[in-house]
Amino acid sequence: METNELNLITLAQHFSDEDKAREFLEKLRWPDGPACPHCGEIGNVYKLQGESTRKGLYKCAGCRKPFTVTVGTIFEDSHIPLNKWLLAYHLLCASKKGMSAHQLHRMLKVTYRSAWFMAHRIRHSMSQEPLRSMLSGVIEVDETYVGGKRRYSQSTQVRPGQRGQDRPGPFAGKQAVVSVLQRGGRVQSTHVQRVTAENLKPVVDQMIAEDAHVITDSSTVLMGALMARKHDQVNHAAKEYVRHENGAVITTNSVEGYFATLKRGINGVYHHVGKQHLRRYLSEFDFRYNSRKEKDGDRTLLAMKGASGKRLMLKDSIGRVQ
Ligand SMILES: [Zn+2]
Repeated sequence: METNELNLITLAQHFSDEDKAREFLEKLRWPDGPACPHCGEIGNVYKLQGESTRKGLYKCAGCRKPFTVTVGTIFEDSHIPLNKWLLAYHLLCASKKGMSAHQLHRMLKVTYRSAWFMAHRIRHSMSQEPLRSMLSGVIEVDETYVGGKRRYSQSTQVRPGQRGQDRPGPFAGKQAVVSVLQRGGRVQSTHVQRVTAENLKPVVDQMIAEDAHVITDSSTVLMGALMARKHDQVNHAAKEYVRHENGAVITTNSVEGYFATLKRGINGVYHHVGKQHLRRYLSEFDFRYNSRKEKDGDRTLLAMKGASGKRLMLKDSIGRVQ
């Protein structure tokens, strides 16, 4: 199957059964033939066949250990048929705002609990490797607040027995997200406890090259974290959104566009995002943004390729594999 054929219809047809889905994954994971996940042996492995043998089982002639294509991937130990996994990948990759576990549960005919675990595993496989090189060029940095309960009326009155400063503010219960976006390039988002210069400094140090041109709004928190980097601000308070200056476009419109999609997803699709899981949702939205120029099918393949080698970390972060 050509990758440009990969859409929901072809996925549903080609992956109507688990055997075909497994063959597809084998080709994707092992383009040069089966490789032993235990010792790395490539040529010296053979397929185990026979009526009592589990399908897709291989044995390594080097280390004598058996394995299947799911060993060492996010699919390992899962009882969900592989074809449903592949469909779930496509649904999450092709939906701009993501897809809730409730909807996956209905569409894939798996339990809600299974759907929730599948979605988190897929998000985990979308997480970015640490940046090989820092982001350079024009970088937009901004923060936003997501989650928490929506307050329909923000009363300005202080109730009897309550001190004014104790009233929940507009960000109460919300989580702070800082995104670093290379204009025309990639975005990387981080969940921070509080937006302070101290918390932002490691983000800046790890992601932004020293010769980058950083653009923010008029918030002053970042100033202390940017050190000597070239920095311009767009003054939203004065209703300024774009300014042209010495050939540069001073605006944070790209990162704000990214936040708009993130918020539509978190508020409209996921409704409630536990703060312990937020970084995986950020991985999902970052991943879709960073592969925005790919077709849906290619984006799905890209995500599936991230499925291997991430299993252990995942077990630690969301508990036992179902
Ligand atoms: Zn081996």
